[in-house]
Amino acid sequence: MCVFPLSCVLVVLNVGRLFRYIPTTGRMEGTARDCGRVSSRTERKAQERAKILQQEKQRKTFKLVSQILKKSESERTEEELATLQQCEKMVQELRLRQIRRDALKRKQEEVLDRPDELQRKVKELAAAVRAATYLVVYTGAGISTAASIPDYRGPNGVWTLLQKGRSVSASDLSEAEPTLTHMCIGKLHEEKLVQHVVSQNCDGLHLRSGLPRQALSELHGNMYIEVCTACSPPEECVRLFDVTEQTGLHRHGTGRHCSRCGAELRDTIVHFGERGTLDQPLNWKGAAEAAAKADAILCLGSSLKVLKKYACLWCMNRTPNKRPKLYIVNLQWTPKDDLAALKIHGKCDDVMKLLMEELDIQIPEYDKSKDPIFSLATPLRPEEADSHHRKLIAPPSGRPAIFQGSAEECGRAPVQGGWFGRGCSKGRKKKKPLSLK
Ligand SMILES: [Zn+2]
Repeated sequence: MCVFPLSCVLVVLNVGRLFRYIPTTGRMEGTARDCGRVSSRTERKAQERAKILQQEKQRKTFKLVSQILKKSESERTEEELATLQQCEKMVQELRLRQIRRDALKRKQEEVLDRPDELQRKVKELAAAVRAATYLVVYTGAGISTAASIPDYRGPNGVWTLLQKGRSVSASDLSEAEPTLTHMCIGKLHEEKLVQHVVSQNCDGLHLRSGLPRQALSELHGNMYIEVCTACSPPEECVRLFDVTEQTGLHRHGTGRHCSRCGAELRDTIVHFGERGTLDQPLNWKGAAEAAAKADAILCLGSSLKVLKKYACLWCMNRTPNKRPKLYIVNLQWTPKDDLAALKIHGKCDDVMKLLMEELDIQIPEYDKSKDPIFSLATPLRPEEADSHHRKLIAPPSGRPAIFQGSAEECGRAPVQGGWFGRGCSKGRKKKKPLSLK
């Protein structure tokens, strides 16, 4: 008697195979479909194995070819030359990569013009400054390096160091003062030779040099300003410390509150991937209007990698001969170099010193007692005393201190929170996968 009910089908798993009890024959059988499944799986595994072996072989060949290419042509053996001939595509790919690597290296190199060449170029720049009817200055981190604020992409720049896994200290930020370049720009504005300044810097040094706010667009914010956007118009608080300690990408609350409406204050920093919408201190309106009126643009200490993306700053909708003339002062290559009427490879302070000599204008010295930040600063309320741990900008002697808390812990700690050094990873390009075919 059959021990299994007729309707019963027993499935037995045996080393990955499916078997079925066939009541009429009383046997366990694997079906043709099951056999098919097994064979297709074996086939797939074999294919995958072959693929891995092939990739491994190609990797080895790639390594071999790149080693051969590193040798000088005279050093290559017959066998090696034959290998190169067999792997023509790989050779092409490796040569292209080398060309790209060399080009990138050249772009990152800092170049200084010879003194006589620098002098000649500055004369040309001075003539352009005199001739311009509406000169706009675009500034980047390179104008603040003399104030001990590292730039971003220079050899000791924040991003260069962070990408190498090294730490960057924020300790000097509050000790930074407007540089010679900041003071020159302010003076040129006073002399009506510069009409507007557009800066990517968040260090607030243009404002502290005494440049009027309506002549300034701080496109990426100002580390000393926090605002209440719930108030209309937004309530602004200028502080004597870096307000961005707790903020970051898409996190702008500073932890302090508006004295008018009680809403949380936010910093004014625009990070990579964000769109700056605040009227002040960004002043996009002023920047766009200035660019539209400009007949000359002077770019100082900026790699222009970010600024070039803001189309309205370059009048790119006009034909090339109707665009403002471009003058660039930067140690490294910039993407606008080919469009520039003049490119000066020099440190901003050196160039500006020569320029002011050429224009016969005296450079004012930074005077802390006239720094507008002290009159603009809003005192902290007593309950906000512990709301930050950043070092204060020390008041000038003889001036009463504005209550800004007692942050004594500031120090040499590496940069973590805040605007400084943020966006570094955003600048990195993803590596293209190896093309081994
Ligand atoms: Zn408010």
